[in-house]
Amino acid sequence: MEAKVNIKNLNREELKGLTRRFGKEDYRAQQIIQWIYRHRVNSFQEMTNLSKELRELLERTTRMDSLLPAEVETSCDGSQKLLFPLEDHETIETVLIPDRDRLTLCVSTQVGCKFGCRFCLTGQKGFSRDLSTSEIVGQVLASQSFVRPMTLTNIVLMGMGEPLANLENAMKAMEIMGYNDGLRFSKRKITLSTVGLVPEIDRLGQIPRLCRLAISLNATDNVTRTSLMPINQEYPLEELLEACRRFPLAPRERITFEYVIMQGINDSDEDAKRLPTMLRGIRAKVNLIPYNESPSLPFRRPSEERILAFQQTLLKKNLTAIIRKSRGEDISAACGQLRGG
Ligand code: SAH
Ligand code: SF4
Repeated sequence: MEAKVNIKNLNREELKGLTRRFGKEDYRAQQIIQWIYRHRVNSFQEMTNLSKELRELLERTTRMDSLLPAEVETSCDGSQKLLFPLEDHETIETVLIPDRDRLTLCVSTQVGCKFGCRFCLTGQKGFSRDLSTSEIVGQVLASQSFVRPMTLTNIVLMGMGEPLANLENAMKAMEIMGYNDGLRFSKRKITLSTVGLVPEIDRLGQIPRLCRLAISLNATDNVTRTSLMPINQEYPLEELLEACRRFPLAPRERITFEYVIMQGINDSDEDAKRLPTMLRGIRAKVNLIPYNESPSLPFRRPSEERILAFQQTLLKKNLTAIIRKSRGEDISAACGQLRGG
């Protein structure tokens, strides 16, 4: 017997294909979307405006298992890390980050990561597999149920893994997150962060836009960037920045450049002076991320004064630069600390 597909792997078009095969009207697909993503039911039996016959057909041909957090850790700063076991006994982590009127969810797109950035714990753990569309969206569904009665306001694809290395599933997941009759995340509320895969950045730019783009830059010269991020050998800074220049942006939209600031590595005055020059011609803003240390890695966070001085140099050149507050460090939920349990 063929394995049943998880119905949460299907986008609207694919759901219509399914209901058509059963000889049903297209609006049935919309009803299914409403049940799964708006009402967040966990069984076909709860879809009470579908006929019993259709519910049974769905039950026989598809499945709709959900993610459930097995562990929740809460940081002293209010952020929370959810650990989700997957059906093949892999585990992934998702982080909830409350900040004033925002509640941001940081989702994973792969189990582990292939890119091996030297400063990143996820990168040290190696790669196991891509997440399916349903596993990416499932983190949002489960987290939204977990935070109820609050509502998630923003999604960032910045957890474990490289979203553009799992492009098809990440794109489909973002499409589903955006459905008006479902989770309703507008494109401005979803941000995808990439290590800098040039062909995939171009592909993302070609389709109706699904999200905002963030680039993990982390250095201002190729030698330093290659020593930190091996992918820079394949797509050096010039090529990466060219891809950013041609990436289509909506009016007033900007690309975010993430810059993990590490003592003695990329925190010099020269770096701070080079950065605005490098980004010339790109509508850019910079997120300075103070390095989150871990005992097993040799990198250190610069002093507060150094980070502020670095920021000032960027601001003087009219480059928007914010220092990202580190959240969840005490529960290993901060940037680069996710290992999947
Ligand atoms: N693979 C994607 C998305 C996940 S990483 C990417 O690399 O963009 C999300 C962010 O965390 C990246 O900008 C990365 O540079 C940053 N990061 C990794 N390790 C970190 C650490 N130890 N401290 C602070 N930021 C870190
Ligand atoms: Fe992978 Fe991103 Fe970590 Fe690099 S920074 S190893 S691309 S998760």
